[in-house]
Amino acid sequence: MYTLIQLTKSVQETIISHCMANKPKEACGFLLGSVHLTQIRVTSFVPVANASTKPENQFSMHPSDMIPVISNNTFTIVGILHSHPSAAATPSSEDLSTIWYDIPSHWIVSLQQPVIEIVAYRYTYNNHSLVQAQYHPIPIMLIGDD
Ligand SMILES: [Zn+2]
Repeated sequence: MYTLIQLTKSVQETIISHCMANKPKEACGFLLGSVHLTQIRVTSFVPVANASTKPENQFSMHPSDMIPVISNNTFTIVGILHSHPSAAATPSSEDLSTIWYDIPSHWIVSLQQPVIEIVAYRYTYNNHSLVQAQYHPIPIMLIGDD
């Protein structure tokens, strides 16, 4: 179980600018990095085009955009991220029915005014049936770029 995420300020800025540029559509992508014991360190953000037919309200990734990222063994996917252009950074019921249950962290970027908010969650399941996940925020520590 992960208790802390380290996020560099430059990756934070990359995430926010990508999500803002896609407004009013939801943006999405993967966070890459490493895992040490209970800590996740994020080192980069890989945007993926939102292929949903209702991109203002949901996100989905086309396999041809997603497979090159998830099948690459030279890095570790530590999170999946999407934005809520006009809602809080709380998972929707659809978000909690994700197929991505084995990814360590699930990020939501709220662009709702007045403050942009980035929240990372750990999703837990009683089982892998159709039951929705429960969600628990993981604290994010901003660090400088080294
Ligand atoms: Zn959502």
